Amino acid sequence: MTKIVVLVKEVPDAAVNKQLDASTGRLVRSGERTLNPFDTHAIEAALQLKEGGELSVDEVVAVTIAPAGAEKTLNKAVALGADRSILLSDEGLAGSDVVATAYALAELVKRESPDLVLLGQQSDDGQSYAVGAAVAEYLGWPGLTQVVGLKVEGDKLRAERQAEYGYDTVEVTLPAVLSVGDAINEPRYPSLKAIMGAKKKPQEKLTLADAGIDASKVGADGSQAVWQSAEEPPAKAAGAIIEEDDVAAAVEQIVAWLDERKLV
Ligand SMILES: Cc1cc2nc3c(=O)[nH]c(=O)nc-3n(C[C@H](O)[C@H](O)[C@H](O)COP(=O)(O)OP(=O)(O)OC[C@H]3O[C@@H](n4cnc5c(N)ncnc54)[C@H](O)[C@@H]3O)c2cc1C
Repeated sequence: MTKIVVLVKEVPDAAVNKQLDASTGRLVRSGERTLNPFDTHAIEAALQLKEGGELSVDEVVAVTIAPAGAEKTLNKAVALGADRSILLSDEGLAGSDVVATAYALAELVKRESPDLVLLGQQSDDGQSYAVGAAVAEYLGWPGLTQVVGLKVEGDKLRAERQAEYGYDTVEVTLPAVLSVGDAINEPRYPSLKAIMGAKKKPQEKLTLADAGIDASKVGADGSQAVWQSAEEPPAKAAGAIIEEDDVAAAVEQIVAWLDERKLV
């Protein structure tokens, strides 16, 4: 029997203009929040492994670390197909950097002792792409990033990784931590029945003490990354507009424009 833990993050809704608190440099999380869209690919990958039948998956557990109020977001993960969920929420986590977050996530994973941990390649807000590798390191398990294909081969998983030069094919023995790229699958939409049923699935809410997590290794004091300052990105320069009715002439002008800048 195989247990899969999927790490999912609550992020500001894409329609919300993201803002940093000027005094702490932390993201203002008071607006509408939702499930990180990249993580829906990790949930889908878990479901496809479960439904594929080659791996006998008995449980998919969605795990998150988030401020209070993330129950609704976790319910979305359950509506997509997770069997139950775990929310770690504690004031002591505020100010945790990537390494501290990964330490706490790894501790939650240890409590569950799954065979496989799946997560998204990046969050929609922090976008460090680093949590998967750091969680794998804390667990001492093999860690793969940018996984865009997954097959069960006996007691191993054969993963295809998207790399700058093409694709890597890598075999891993479980337990392992895999962060998946969004090209791996097309996440399903939850059915109305699943949305309604999600609230009834078990949801465990934990504090640092409940989870036996060392409070000195998380939060601002347990983090080595210290926010210094932030700047608005430079405003984009106005683009060149070509007004030309004749398509061939317009193409000629575009090519000349690109040629001038040595872009073709
Ligand atoms: C100095 C500093 C202070 C910070 N203070 C705060 C703070 O007070 N409050 C706060 O919320 N953030 C804070 N952050 C941001 C926080 O550390 C990151 O959001 C977090 O470490 C995850 O990094 P990421 O979003 O870049 O993840 P990525 O590596 O881009 O995410 C990859 C995947 O990891 C998984 N994942 C990431 N985060 C979580 C999570 N929390 N739970 C479950 N799965 C997850 C998801 O599957 C995601 O797709 C701070 C960061 C720094 C550097």
